[in-house]
Formats: sequence, structure tokens, C-alpha cells
Amino acid sequence: MADPAECTIKVMCRFRPLNSSEVARGDKYIPKFVGEDCVSPLQGKPYYFDRVFQSNTTQVQFYNAVALKIVKDVLEGYNGTIFAYGQTSSGKTHTMEGKLHDSEMMGIIPRIVQDIFNYIYSMDENLEFHIKVSYFEIYLDKIRDLLDVSKMNLSVHEDKNRVPYVKGCTERFVCSPEEVMDAIDEGKSNRHVAVTNMNEHSSRSHSIFLINIKQENTQTEQKLTGKLYLVDLAGSEKVGKTGAEGTVLDEAKMINKSLSSLGNVISALAEGSLLALGADSEQMNKMTRILQDSLGGNCRTTMVICCSPSSFNDAETRSTLLFGQRYI
Ligand code: ADP
Ligand code: MG
Repeated sequence: MADPAECTIKVMCRFRPLNSSEVARGDKYIPKFVGEDCVSPLQGKPYYFDRVFQSNTTQVQFYNAVALKIVKDVLEGYNGTIFAYGQTSSGKTHTMEGKLHDSEMMGIIPRIVQDIFNYIYSMDENLEFHIKVSYFEIYLDKIRDLLDVSKMNLSVHEDKNRVPYVKGCTERFVCSPEEVMDAIDEGKSNRHVAVTNMNEHSSRSHSIFLINIKQENTQTEQKLTGKLYLVDLAGSEKVGKTGAEGTVLDEAKMINKSLSSLGNVISALAEGSLLALGADSEQMNKMTRILQDSLGGNCRTTMVICCSPSSFNDAETRSTLLFGQRYI
């Protein structure tokens, strides 16, 4: 593993606008923005991030400020992870995916796909690219392949270099942006098919899209590999202490455990002590184990903290801001 000091972690905070039902209910717009990196909820202390994005930030503005650099780094052989954290309905999927086939409203993932291929098309012909994608979700600590529904409980293994991977997960080779978007559409429809209530399901499972880029110079035989994990996390909201039982309680425990374990890894990384934590990787939940190498090695990690601006969600928003705040 590379020197953790090489890693960069950035925490970005994005507020969505009030939605129409919040407006109809008379909710107040809570956040006060100070400069480019600070936000204050109604009362209490201000929270600082690498950058704070106000509700009127467009998808392209957000992409240029947050994801563009990571794409460049991954094409130079770094590993990267971008993940969206926040309560249900705070804008995680809007940020990661947006409207996939709408050039203005598309989120980070389709823009990354376009930029990767634009880069490839601009390179000279001595460079050969091999791009493959995987798409899976983690629900109740079970990994389900979204590109092959018959694979419902995959496990995490390590290769000979101790790099974790999801064993048996479909890796689809892709040659154009269209082929990547087809894979995403297919994965999303597979996700829908297996569940009765998609909103509920997506708030309780992590979805992970992986792009793996291998470059080879056919003259010098030099090789370069970079991979990028794009993660839409399960909703971070606390499930009420009363009333939750059975599956709902199991889900809530599992989500809390996986988010806090992820938080611990990132904190350790920010403090440069990931190696100490790494020794304990058997204990980690599957998501953290998979991401570990991309959070820990020569990596670029960006966490997007998604927030609702509504007075109704004030308490959750504070706890979301606090989660992101730890790593600065
Ligand atoms: P989550 O994935 O966190 O549950 P969504 O991304 O689905 O939340 O967002 C909930 C709703 O709010 C969606 O209808 C989405 O289009 C809208 N929304 C979220 N963020 C924004 C934003 N920054 N600007 C405009 N609409 C947004
Ligand atoms: Mg979502």
C-alpha cells in the first residue's frame, strides 16, 4: 500500500433546494452560507468543508468543481472513490446519476463516462485502452450483481497483491459511452425488478458502480491501471428507536454499522493511520472492505455530503454535516 500521506480526501457539501411539498407545508429554508466553504444551520456552530455548494448549483457546475480532477487522476493511474452520503431524499442519486439521458440534468456518473471516452478519443493510437465496468448493490451486507441477477450473494476476496475485489462479479468490457450507459440502464432495471418499493429499497442499500481503466502503450508496453468507485450510499437517517423490528431493525443496524465503519476508515485515513485499521479488515463490513484499497492506496477520495435545507430535517442535516466535518 502506498504512503497514506499521498492520499487526498476531500469533503464537499451540497444542499438541494426546498421541494414543493416542503414549501407547501411552510418549511423554512435553513442554511446560511458563508464564503465558499462554510455553512451554518439555524442555530449553533458553523460547519466547514473543502467546498459548500448552494441549492442553485447546476449539475455541470458541480461536476466541474468536484469530479473532473478525479477523472484526470484515474486516467493517470490513481484509484478513486466518490461517494454520496446523506439522509433519504437529500440529493444523493441526483448528484451521482441525475437524469441519466438528459444532457443538462445528468449527474456525475454519466459526465465521467463521457469525459473518459473523450480523453481516449483524443489520445494517440499507440495507446490501447481496456475499460470494464461492474455494477452491484449491497443490501444487508449481501452483494448482489446488478449486471447478472443470478448472482445474489457474492463475497469479497483479495488478489495476490492483497487488493480486494468482489469475486465472480460481472465485469463488462465496454468500448463506447453508449455501452456504459446501457450497462447502467440494465443494472438499474434489474434493481427495480427484484424489489416492490424502489424508494424504500434504495434508501436501505448501497449502490456501487465501478469503472476500471487499463492503458497499454503498444510500443513501450508500459501499463497503467486506474479504477474509480462511484457509490450512492444507503440513507443515513436514524430509524426510530420504537416500532422498528425484524427486517427493518436488521437493515437499520447493518446500515449504521457500515456507515460508521466507513467513517472510521476515512477518519483513520485522514489521520494517516489506515494501516493499523487494515490489519483488522476481516472485521469490516463488505462495503468498507471493497473500498479499502481505493480509499487507502494511491487514492483520490471525495465524499459528497448531501443535505436538505428544510427546517423539517434540521436534526438529520446537523448529524449529516457532523459526519462530514470529522474528516477536515
Ligand atoms: P436521495 O438519493 O438522497 O434519496 P434524490 O437524489 O432522489 O435523493 O433527491 C430527492 C428529490 O430531490 C429528487 O426528486 C431530486 O430530483 C430532487 N433533488 C435533489 N437534489 C437536487 C438539486 N440539487 N436540485 C434540484 N433537485 C434536486
Ligand atoms: Mg437515492
